[in-house]
Amino acid sequence: MERGRIVVVGGGFAGVWAAMGAAHALNRFGASDAAEVTLINPDPFHVIRVRCYEAELDAIRVPLDRVLAPIGVKHLAATATAIDARRRMVSLRPSGCADGMDAVGYERLILCAGSSLQLPAISGLAEHSFDVDSCDGAARLAWHVAALAEPGIDAAGRWTAVVIGAGLVGLEIACELPARLREVRDRAGGVGEPVRVLLLDRATEVGGAMGQAAAIPLRAALEAAGVEALGGTTVSAADAGGVVLGSGERIAARTVVSATGMRASPLATTLGVPLDPLGRVPVDTYLRVADAEGIFAAGDIASAVADDAGHKTVMSCQHARPMGRVAGFNAVCELLGREAERVRFSAPGYVTVLDLGPWGAVYTSGWERAELVASGSRAKAIKRKINTHRIYPPLDDREAILEAGAPLSQPAPSARA
Ligand SMILES: Cc1cc2nc3c(=O)[nH]c(=O)nc-3n(C[C@H](O)[C@H](O)[C@H](O)COP(=O)(O)OP(=O)(O)OC[C@H]3O[C@@H](n4cnc5c(N)ncnc54)[C@H](O)[C@@H]3O)c2cc1C
Repeated sequence: MERGRIVVVGGGFAGVWAAMGAAHALNRFGASDAAEVTLINPDPFHVIRVRCYEAELDAIRVPLDRVLAPIGVKHLAATATAIDARRRMVSLRPSGCADGMDAVGYERLILCAGSSLQLPAISGLAEHSFDVDSCDGAARLAWHVAALAEPGIDAAGRWTAVVIGAGLVGLEIACELPARLREVRDRAGGVGEPVRVLLLDRATEVGGAMGQAAAIPLRAALEAAGVEALGGTTVSAADAGGVVLGSGERIAARTVVSATGMRASPLATTLGVPLDPLGRVPVDTYLRVADAEGIFAAGDIASAVADDAGHKTVMSCQHARPMGRVAGFNAVCELLGREAERVRFSAPGYVTVLDLGPWGAVYTSGWERAELVASGSRAKAIKRKINTHRIYPPLDDREAILEAGAPLSQPAPSARA
């Protein structure tokens, strides 16, 4: 019998866990020979993207082979450029070698191409700002900050950073930057020279999205880190020496970081189905794309109903991993004609655990982030555990990887560190 082909596009949280979910299902049904699972990702790493704001980046790249090879999933080093749902083909741009495959067919496709930073149309921002949206972006910022120690750098704004956007990512990187700049300043012999980090947002209340329960800890953390929060502030231009605010004021800053929100991968547009305002593909309870036979989607590129109250999934690794597991599992069920065993996606109980630099972290529960579960050093210990253990797939151990791929939802992180 010819083997069916399941193709996963993307090697992030949704894609890796989708491949694990598919391998889990094939193993559970004793059908490992019935299908071949291939994961398409441009490079050979699974990036732990949520850690890109951290100073230490060594552990954020996990070799894909250490997760995929033990469970028999192939990695194809390529970028998917378009999907032809009618012909069940994915067009590819191979990474590195020009003579790689330029298309691959599938019986079931799981779209997990994620999202990326959406820059507003501000003059000079694309050329002169950094980001922590990807591993490459985080590495560029780290090199830039380290290079500030080199002699001969203009003093104006040398130890000043401007972070544009006070959403969750903006808050995390803003709280990290003062210590990173101080360390480089001291290395450069500038001990005592003032370090400034400004966190700008057009919303009046900086960090308002974290909800009222987190407002007091948030203010304490920003104050402890010495971050100047400027609400109701827009940026009209950026250049190598700083930014110009909407008011016309110029801020000299060698380091400008954009944290202006995420938008789903443009690959979603090639499906030809209506997308939500974030560019995401709506999926049903089995994570199938309506009107696109054989296609599932998971993670930041998809929007699913998460609970009985109708909340939609949030672009988060919290949702990407379980969505991936369920999509992978259901793709196998469909391929094997075991529709009755498909699993409905459900993710009740949304939580947020936000790192706030040396002061600690804040842990809230609820879609409106109404309940404060923990803050300060206790929340920081929980965040460390999440960032270094909870969100990593097991490596090398076939049984452990297959077990972790079960289409289950994970309980919220324990409130005890
Ligand atoms: C600094 C930062 C902090 C964050 N903190 C948190 C947090 O605390 N908690 C939380 O839940 N979420 C957090 N997030 C959000 C979280 O990282 C994303 O929601 C999550 O990464 C989504 O997973 P994904 O697999 O859908 O997409 P991604 O992680 O973006 O992975 C997509 C993958 O697909 C690949 N890809 C893209 N396009 C193609 C293509 N055309 N062909 C082939 N491959 C492709 C990419 O290379 C990548 O490997 C944070 C994000 C950032 C940037």
